[in-house]
Amino acid sequence: MKGNKLVPYVITQACVDVMDKSCMEECPADCIYEGDRMLYIQPDECVECGRCEPVCPQISIFHHEDLPEESKGFERINAEFFTLGTDPLGSPGGARKVGRVGHDHPEVGA
Ligand code: SF4
Ligand code: SF4
Repeated sequence: MKGNKLVPYVITQACVDVMDKSCMEECPADCIYEGDRMLYIQPDECVECGRCEPVCPQISIFHHEDLPEESKGFERINAEFFTLGTDPLGSPGGARKVGRVGHDHPEVGA
């Protein structure tokens, strides 16, 4: 992760229960991971190429500097998805080999 931001690109509320995975197919770093109801960008693996943002049909992905006010909490949510819990995902090095994680950040999965 570059600079002091939490996540370069951020997936927000509009992905919830959509998850068509257009962004995963576009991502050259394979750093977009599948929770239960939405996807999350791994901050340390994202190379900040921006290719995911325009392909999202929900307009759910934003550069962290362009996040709408109501979605600002998702920068932290994307980052915490990989660090919370007793067995955190961390930086697995590729979403395809991990597959569906099957749970969400607690603020999303409620
Ligand atoms: S392209 Fe958008 S809606 Fe589709 S899975 Fe990715 S973030 Fe979610
Ligand atoms: S900015 Fe690039 S590397 Fe980062 S999640 Fe989007 S497509 Fe993947």
